[in-house]
Parts: sequence; C-alpha cells; structure tokens
Amino acid sequence: MMPAHAALAYWLARDAHASARALDLGAESLRALAATRMRALLVDAQHTPFNATRMRDAGLTRPGALRDLELPLALQSLAPVSKQELSTAGDASLRHGRVSASWFSSRSSGSSGEPFRVYYDARAWSMLKYLVKMRSRRAAGMRLTDRVAILDAIDPRVEGSSLLERLGRLKRISVFRPPEEIAALLAAYAPDEIYALPSALLEIAHAAGQDTPEVRAKRICASGELLTSRASRDITEAFGGRIFDVYGTSETKEIAWECWAGSRHINADVVHVEILGGDGACVEAGVEGEVVVTLLVNRAMPLIRYRTGDRGSLLSARCECGRASPLLGVVSGRDADMLELPDGSILSPYLLTMALEPIAGLVQYQIAQTERDHLRVRAVAGNGVDARALEADIACALGAALAAAVRVSTEIVDRLEHGARAKVRVVEPLPRSAAREMMAAR
Ligand SMILES: [Zn+2]
Repeated sequence: MMPAHAALAYWLARDAHASARALDLGAESLRALAATRMRALLVDAQHTPFNATRMRDAGLTRPGALRDLELPLALQSLAPVSKQELSTAGDASLRHGRVSASWFSSRSSGSSGEPFRVYYDARAWSMLKYLVKMRSRRAAGMRLTDRVAILDAIDPRVEGSSLLERLGRLKRISVFRPPEEIAALLAAYAPDEIYALPSALLEIAHAAGQDTPEVRAKRICASGELLTSRASRDITEAFGGRIFDVYGTSETKEIAWECWAGSRHINADVVHVEILGGDGACVEAGVEGEVVVTLLVNRAMPLIRYRTGDRGSLLSARCECGRASPLLGVVSGRDADMLELPDGSILSPYLLTMALEPIAGLVQYQIAQTERDHLRVRAVAGNGVDARALEADIACALGAALAAAVRVSTEIVDRLEHGARAKVRVVEPLPRSAAREMMAAR
C-alpha cells in the first residue's frame, strides 16, 4: 500500500484538472457526474457495517435496487443520521469496520463535548480538503502566488510549523491570541487573503481601530459562523477588499462557496444537499429546513444523509455568473439555535440578529435565553459610543421583534465569550421543552 502522503500527492495531480473543470459543467453533465458518484458510493457503502444495515433495512441491497429506482429517491429511503449516531456506531461506520493507515482524518467536537473523528481516503481528502477549495478560491480571483493568512483555533506554539508556512505562502495565526496581537501579526504579514470566523474578524477590526496598525486584504473568506449582513459590511469596511461567505462543516468540508455575483454555489459534484422539513420530507426550493448532506466521494467513512444540524434552503434561480451548480439560500443558523418562547412558539435566531443589525455603535453581541421569557444580551460597544443609549437601542429593537411576554436585559462588555474551537455562539437558546422535542422528532 502507498504511504498516505504519496497517495495524496498522486490524487492531487490526477484529479486537479477534472475537479477545476467540474465548476463549469452544464446542469445536465453535473447531474450525471453526481449520479454516477452517488451510485458508486451507495454500492461501496455496503462494505461499512453501519451503512450495510441501514441499506438492508431500506431494501436497497436487493439486486437491482440502485439501478431501478431514481437515485435521489433511493437515497431518501434511508433515514438521516446524526453525528451522535455515527459516534455511537464507532468503527462500524468505517469501511470494513476498521481504521486504515492510509486514511486521513479530522476532528470536531461532538454534541456533548467529546471529540468526533471523520476518516477520509486519500482521494477524498485530496478533493475535499484541497481541490474543491482551491477551485472556488481561484474562481473568486485568488492566484497561487497570493499570501494567505488563516486565523485558526490552534495553540500559538504550533504557528509556523506546517510545510506551506515554512515556504512563506501561508501564515496561520492562533485566534487565542489577543486581538491587538493578531492585528499586528496580520499587518506585518500583509496577506492578500484572510480566512477566519466572522467573530474573530470583527474583534480584530475593533482592535485595529485603536493603537494597532491597519490590516488590509484583497479577499476575506468567512466561514464557521452565521455571517450577518451587518458583520459582512463592517468587515469589508475594516479590511477593504471583498468578503466571501463559505459554508461547510468540519465533517463535510466545503459545501457551498460564494461567487463574484454573490450566490452560494453548492459543490454538487462532491456533495448532495437535501433540505428536510419537520416531517422529514424534502421541502421545495425557497423553503427553509434542515440541511442534510451526502458526501459523494468519501469511501473511508461514508456520510450518507448526514444531519448537519444547520438550517438553510435551496434556491431555484440561476446565477448571473453563468455556472449551473445549484444554489444554497441563507444558512440561517443551527437547528439547536431556535428559541422556544413562553407560548410554545418557535423563533428563528435570524429575526433577532436582523433586529439588531441596524444599530449603529453595536460592534458585536451575544444573546442568551436564560429563561423561557428572558433574553440576556451581551454587547460590545464601538469606540466612544454611549453605553446607556446603546442599551436602550437594543431593548427597543428586540422589543419590536419579540412578543411582549419576553423580557430583555443588556450588559455592555469588552469582549464576548468563546465556545468550542473559538466560535462565538451569537444566539444561545434554552434547551427546548420535552413536548417540543417530541414534536420535532416526529
Ligand atoms: Zn454564481
């Protein structure tokens, strides 16, 4: 067997051209390529004990089942799986039920805080981790010679240790450093592109306005958190250049990327996206639901109808950039971020963020539901902004968005609290009541 990195180099070279070309395929060719890959995935997934059971239960292991049925319909006969279920399945979710030395893996945090690891074969890793990202960045105007800065949830002691960093093409900076320090490091490096969480960019923009040097970049790729239009505007103003929203998860890598025309194109040749309503059925274009994805290219640990936990929609429109790949609407937040109000109604966190967006002088904020009828807002004020006036503006804006039965209290802070992997949870609801959970599970 080839060593993992030799295999990676082989697949990078072999698939680079086809992967780049897939971006410009017509709708029909793209659908055909995705269907071929989906069929191959479902056939091969029978080598993973966990998926073999799922497929047998759904009747998909009968001879001809994957030929006779329309493929997306065949896929829909499998129940979606959560991170929790895969975690519980353990090695049974792997091809032949065991880890291979030739695989790559990435780790994310599980729902109860324990790490969750996804394995990828070398070809899948080459496509998902490198080729798919490179082609969308190039389509957005990036050149191979550009200087790239990545703000990452790493220990500052491992900064500079990777091969690309030693070659000077890339700089990783720990988001655990104080924002003034990050701003100074960025200003000294003078990147063409910055990759970061929106919350980290906002903190640096805020810090950079004071005694630290100015940071400029031609392109900024934001991912990992909800990118509100307000945050997008503030980041663009602070760094200059253009911001691109990238949607993905640590398990699936990049799902959709923003083109110059401002649409989010789904990487439909490597990932199949479905949007499910409360009853578990696919909803129409334009309707928001849970984002469920199937990674078409990974054989090591097939993710088939994987529940991302995010809420979003598909769009039926064609993009003016001319690319035929399907478009993803706004991903409005995690399913777990929906708020249950005292009368049992459910409120999208998006309505709250939209209400706060227009407030001048509000740099960053976090909303926590501490009781069914109480929201606590932590807010970071802009330089020279009157704290009292800001509190009043927040109370007024949320009051208009909420039923009268919900109370709001605001606290002005210097810095927000970070969660796992340095992410800031913009809206943190109380766990839903048992009755509500049962409704959601049906
Ligand atoms: Zn486009």
